[in-house]
Amino acid sequence: MEDDSPKADSIIFLGTGGARFVMINQFLSTGGMWLNLDGTEILLDPGPGCIVQSAKRKLKPDKLSAIILSHRHLDHSADVNIMVEAMTQGGFKRRGWLFAPADALEPESVIFSYLRDSLEGVAVLREGQSYSIGSVSFSTPVRHLHGVETYGIVFKTSKHMFSYIADTRYFDGLCKSYGGELLIINVLRVESRDPGFPLDHLSVPDARHIITELKPRVAILTHFGMTMWRAKPWGIAQKLSEETGTRVIAARDGMKFDLSQLDVVSE
Ligand SMILES: [Zn+2]
Repeated sequence: MEDDSPKADSIIFLGTGGARFVMINQFLSTGGMWLNLDGTEILLDPGPGCIVQSAKRKLKPDKLSAIILSHRHLDHSADVNIMVEAMTQGGFKRRGWLFAPADALEPESVIFSYLRDSLEGVAVLREGQSYSIGSVSFSTPVRHLHGVETYGIVFKTSKHMFSYIADTRYFDGLCKSYGGELLIINVLRVESRDPGFPLDHLSVPDARHIITELKPRVAILTHFGMTMWRAKPWGIAQKLSEETGTRVIAARDGMKFDLSQLDVVSE
């Protein structure tokens, strides 16, 4: 049974697409993730279509306490302005926080200055820092290798700890920066060297390595590029489950993951 009480921790995937061609064609949605943690609602990486995907699911932006951007690339930030406008009830109510790396805020800000003033505050994400919002704390343990300034996030609620490994090239030290019962991993590519694509993204072999090292209770793959989309992510997840012994799920557009699933002791 799904626990629908407001205090139940859950993650709704407003999109599972990543990178240019999946985003441009909207083969998969790109709206980011809507977290409800201990009753605190947080929007993570609102890419193009976030406002459409959240409205369609009757999620209420004026209930959000914060918007977090892992980095400034369009597939993670395109709808940040409209979502700030929605979070602040059209700019009329000063509320909510924006968390973003420094290079998403200057010299060229992803958020318009007239909207910035309607926020309660803007906080800069930095390597090794911890933050809190409502009853949730989170940290950005390590700067990723990804062209623009990028951070993954470790979330802690009263009941759960989980990690979001955002866009990055694989590097030594990535695994030891993350942990928890759940790993959400942006796996853009099937192979580590797809010709014609930049190399600063994780691939299926990288995900296999990370899951084997960190042994979460559940791993969720998301942010699929063209090669992943064509290769059927759910089949890849099934194979990774068999290879790693961890339950691996391919996120689907609109999927709600209830973190109480992590509490079930596996036999
Ligand atoms: Zn990116």
